[in-house]
Order: sequence, then structure tokens, then C-alpha cells
Amino acid sequence: MIITKEFMNRLPMHRIVMLIAIIIVFSNCSSDDTSESTDDDSITTDDGTIDVDSSLFLTDGSAVTITTVPCTLSDGTETDCYQIVTTGVPSDHEMGPWCPSTITDGAEEGGIWLENGEVYDVDGAFIQNMATFYGDDTWKMYDDEGNIYVTDTEEDCENAANPNVGEEYENFCVECLPSYITDLIQTYLIPITPVKLSSSVSFGGDPSDNSPSVRGIAFNGVRFDEPAPTDDILGAYTLAPFDDAGGHINLAAGYHYHAETGVSTQITQDDGHASMIGYALDGYGIYAQLDDIGDEPTDLDDCRGHSDDTRGYHYHVAAAGSNSFINCLSGAYAN
Ligand SMILES: [Zn+2]
Ligand SMILES: [Zn+2]
Repeated sequence: MIITKEFMNRLPMHRIVMLIAIIIVFSNCSSDDTSESTDDDSITTDDGTIDVDSSLFLTDGSAVTITTVPCTLSDGTETDCYQIVTTGVPSDHEMGPWCPSTITDGAEEGGIWLENGEVYDVDGAFIQNMATFYGDDTWKMYDDEGNIYVTDTEEDCENAANPNVGEEYENFCVECLPSYITDLIQTYLIPITPVKLSSSVSFGGDPSDNSPSVRGIAFNGVRFDEPAPTDDILGAYTLAPFDDAGGHINLAAGYHYHAETGVSTQITQDDGHASMIGYALDGYGIYAQLDDIGDEPTDLDDCRGHSDDTRGYHYHVAAAGSNSFINCLSGAYAN
């Protein structure tokens, strides 16, 4: 973690004193000491498990509040969890734009689309080219003047998000606006101390076991969601772009991410490791895909996790274009 002035300003005085004490202790160590943590608040148990650091969440505004509550995990462990209550409105970046207005609009007037592992700017030219891009002449999302058909009411955004969308919404760029979700509150439970399982948990795998579909939570309280159902969206001849932060809105889930594009709060690691971007629902840390020199770890497990001495077990998200983050949970989740 890079200790910035902003970071210091967010800390209560007793923690600043503690931090200075820790820095003094470490500065007395020999230079080849490898036990230095990149996170001075982390609590490491004997087996290398690192507790969730609730101070990393952006609780300064009203968007995210965190309390400690008793909870039961999916493996039966009785423990304490952080209960994270959030409006899902990011305090660290703007939402949108999603749909451009005309086929001459540039990339800054629209969001992004994910296809075949690639991230595409949804600018006017992308909309104009959709029939060619998808090899299907049904696509024509603009009128003869070049104005793009964009949903412009809450009702339209709700109707167009229905998988059985009517033909009247064909060739609409779908966007739900922040003003439609001002009353929404989301609550998440994350075990404070992660519990590694002998076999991983599939997301939403078995409805009877209540396993989550949400992958994790960014420090701003926005969820890393399951993959967007892009086949259903395109099958209805609609497009529901993500903004440049990889997020968009639906009326039930609020604002949520489908891609990690480096816009939400990142906690830089001082050893060149990829930045931390949030926590998975099992309490293990989630990090960006690539390290400082652009390499992805080569030893990731099926869930996209691995361990090191500094961070313990943690995940690295998949590439933004993949419409996914991590593949499963290696730890127990809160029921
Ligand atoms: Zn979505
Ligand atoms: Zn790593």
C-alpha cells in the first residue's frame, strides 16, 4: 500500500499513532527482512490467513456502512462477519455514460461492450457497424438522421431488461439511469476470517445450497457481479453497454460491475504485485489481473486464486473482455 496524505487523513488518530509505531519497528529491521506486509492493518493467523480489513472500504460518505455481526458459514463455522450495507452508488467515480446519442458520437459519449475477450468502445461508429460486426442485417440501432434509439424512461429500461423483451425494444440501446435506483440498499455478509474449504463452491451452482452469484465487493461497495447475459441481450437485438468502469444499472441489482477496468479504488502493492480491488464473498482479497509489468500469475487455481507470503490466499480477476471476475469460491461463504 502506498501511504498517501489522503490515506492518512482518512485514519483516526489512534491508528496513525499505531501506523507510525509499526513503521518505526520495521525501519529497525534489517533490510533483508521479508516479513514486511504491504498492509499494516492486516491480521495474519498462524496458517497465513489474513482477516478482512474493513478500513479499506470507502465508508467516509453515506454509501457504505460496515458492522460486525455473528454469522454461520456454509461449512457450519460459527463466526463473525462484516455486514456491508451499501447504496451501491460509487463514491470514487462517476457512473455512465452508456449509450451514445448519435452515430457520430465519440468514445467519450458512450461506454464499452465485451465480446470474444475484447473490450470495445461503444461509440457512434460501433453502433453504426453492428450489422457487420454481428453478421446480421436485423441490427440497425439508429434512424435515418443517425440518432441512436436509446431507452429513455425507467419503464423502458425495465421492459428492455426482460429476457422476453418484445419486438418493440429490438434495436434499442438499453440504459438504466442512476436516478431510477436512489432508494436501493444492498446488504452483504463477508466472513472476517476466511475459512478455506477442501473443495471450491460454484457460484449459484445449486439453488438448494444458497450459494451466491455475486463474486465480491469493490472498496466503494459496488458488487462484482456474475457475467452479464450477453447472449440474451444480443438475442433480443438490444445492447446494454457498460460504462468505462465496467458497470451498468438494473433496477433489482442497482449499479454493478461486469468488468474490472482499473477505475474503482485500487490499493497499490509495494512489491510490484497487482493492485487490490476488493474482497470476494468468502473474505479473501481480490486483485487486478496483471502485475506492475503486465504479467498475469501463472499458478492460479480453477477459481483464479493463489497464495503468497504477503497476501495469503487471494484471487486475481480475469481480463475485462471476459465478462467475468473469478470462477468459484475457495472459502466458505456466509449463509
Ligand atoms: Zn448487468
Ligand atoms: Zn497474487
